[in-house]
Amino acid sequence: MHQPHAEPRRSIYFDYQVFDAWSPSQHPKEQHAPVVIAGAGPIGLVTALALAQHGVYSVVLESERQVSEGSRAIAFTRRSMEILQQVGVADRITASGLPWNCGNSFYRGQRVFRMENPHDPDDRFFPLINIQQQYIEQYLAEACAASPLVELRWGNKLLSLAQDANGATLEVDTAEGPYTLKADWLVAADGARSTVRTLMDLKLEGASYEGKFVIADIRVDLPLPTERLAFFDPGWNPGNTILMHREPHGLWRLDYQLPPSETPEEALKPESLKARIDAQLAMIGHAGVPWEMDWCSVYSARALTLPDYVHGRVLFTGDAAHLLPIFGVRGANTGFQDAQALAWRLALVAKGVAGPALLASYSSERVAAAREIIDEAGKSTRFMTPPTRGFRLLRDAVLSLSLSQPFVGPLYHWRTSRPHEYGTSPLNSADDDSARFAAGPGHGAPPKNTCLAPDDFLLDHLDHRFTLLIATDDPALPEALCAEVQALRGQGLPLHVMAVGRAEPVQGVDDTLADANGHLRERYGLKAGGAYLLRPDHHVCARWLRLDAPRLRAALINAAGLNKEL
Ligand SMILES: Cc1cc2nc3c(=O)[nH]c(=O)nc-3n(C[C@H](O)[C@H](O)[C@H](O)COP(=O)(O)OP(=O)(O)OC[C@H]3O[C@@H](n4cnc5c(N)ncnc54)[C@H](O)[C@@H]3O)c2cc1C
Repeated sequence: MHQPHAEPRRSIYFDYQVFDAWSPSQHPKEQHAPVVIAGAGPIGLVTALALAQHGVYSVVLESERQVSEGSRAIAFTRRSMEILQQVGVADRITASGLPWNCGNSFYRGQRVFRMENPHDPDDRFFPLINIQQQYIEQYLAEACAASPLVELRWGNKLLSLAQDANGATLEVDTAEGPYTLKADWLVAADGARSTVRTLMDLKLEGASYEGKFVIADIRVDLPLPTERLAFFDPGWNPGNTILMHREPHGLWRLDYQLPPSETPEEALKPESLKARIDAQLAMIGHAGVPWEMDWCSVYSARALTLPDYVHGRVLFTGDAAHLLPIFGVRGANTGFQDAQALAWRLALVAKGVAGPALLASYSSERVAAAREIIDEAGKSTRFMTPPTRGFRLLRDAVLSLSLSQPFVGPLYHWRTSRPHEYGTSPLNSADDDSARFAAGPGHGAPPKNTCLAPDDFLLDHLDHRFTLLIATDDPALPEALCAEVQALRGQGLPLHVMAVGRAEPVQGVDDTLADANGHLRERYGLKAGGAYLLRPDHHVCARWLRLDAPRLRAALINAAGLNKEL
């Protein structure tokens, strides 16, 4: 019988809520759901909310009865915020998070590089925002509780699974003992130590790095702006690296590397933590300032992925699918993109609108993204924690040179997590005009957000449907296009049509964006008659200088995996 902790976790700033456990005795004996999601971490919860927006019901199984412990992920990217906006929790995050856009690297007490991420007026969100992961999980869990299409079963632990061509049979343990749950589809979002991955005997591919980091959240009053601080080879921790981030609610996060010989147990002893934190505060000019420990843990970087995220009726996402070094804010930020990429495809397949083959493109796109990140994050990780003598020599040469040669600074360039461009995705249209566009996002690129008016941005108008953005000066959409849109919708395809560029509403479309100064058309390289087709995850899959009905149909059939005969 599974008995998760019923005592709230300890924290000096976050009130852990212990949710009621779901008990089988209170519910019908036969349990079935179209989609079951194992794990109510940030990625499982975003998947559930995105499926709900497509009208697909899911059951989320969570072995614990409260959100996760400690800050864990703290820096969230603009793209993550855009995804979290899509599932309805971005406003709550912006209300309490700390936005930032500058990173600083120090060597021997001297700042040797400062990187500023531009904050474009066309973006609603800052490049990065700091907030502790528990808040995001709490906001997502509350959004799930408010959705009639998500059933979150706290205190339910997935024990075993068997699958056939039609679905999976799951055994789930609770405080009352186990019960059986049938699912058409199982999403494995059960984190780094994924039970599903273990049960299916699937192996992650890639590398683990030697360097271990202590992660500590302390409450301390430091008169410093919200910017990333990285200290290389400081006097108190020679050869190693320290990162500092301001967090909401008066907290700071310190990540410091340990000497190779030190064990996690030694590193987490109170006296060891105190000596290091005091030394770091002294180094930045705040010796003796009082601080209080909230949470600490030891972390080592791994860069691993499953080679395939789709295994019959079981789909992997987030940390269950890959383990990425956190440097460059990977991990949760990567997982949100997985969740968004998976949910719309799974919804179309679960509803019978598209065939299961559509899911293969989820795997190929996201495995490629994980591999790209592994490559990039590997560079950052090797700079932070040189794995060999050769790497260390090279890194130290860069560090020394940077004291006198400013041109060396950019070698510290911090490669931050960014959305993958699905340039070679099979979902991209084969016969559109993408190559002939002079501006705007190309095949597979994420959308370029665009300011339409004060506090009004393009992405505020996009939802979980495919979006057809048509530039038109005419009062109505041509009849042939209207008929095609209706026919496609009749096949179950979720399609949202928006006209761009007229002050008055255009007939035959769902919304009209006036684009009074032509800014949106300019950023997208659009002239009257031209159009973009954005997938439900907002990535571009087709664009035309002049749209016509047959090419729209072909592009949508290709991108949605629609059965042509339907
Ligand atoms: C110490 C630490 C520090 C980190 N720092 C950062 C950072 O600074 N930046 C960053 O981007 N990322 C960071 N990460 C990584 C980040 O936390 C993860 O990438 C993120 O949580 C992944 O989300 P997920 O939903 O895939 O998995 P998880 O958050 O791990 O969620 C999985 C959920 O599944 C549940 N579960 C597990 N097994 C079962 C089962 N059998 N049945 C039912 N439920 C189950 C778990 O209880 C959990 O709630 C850190 C991680 C750790 C551990």
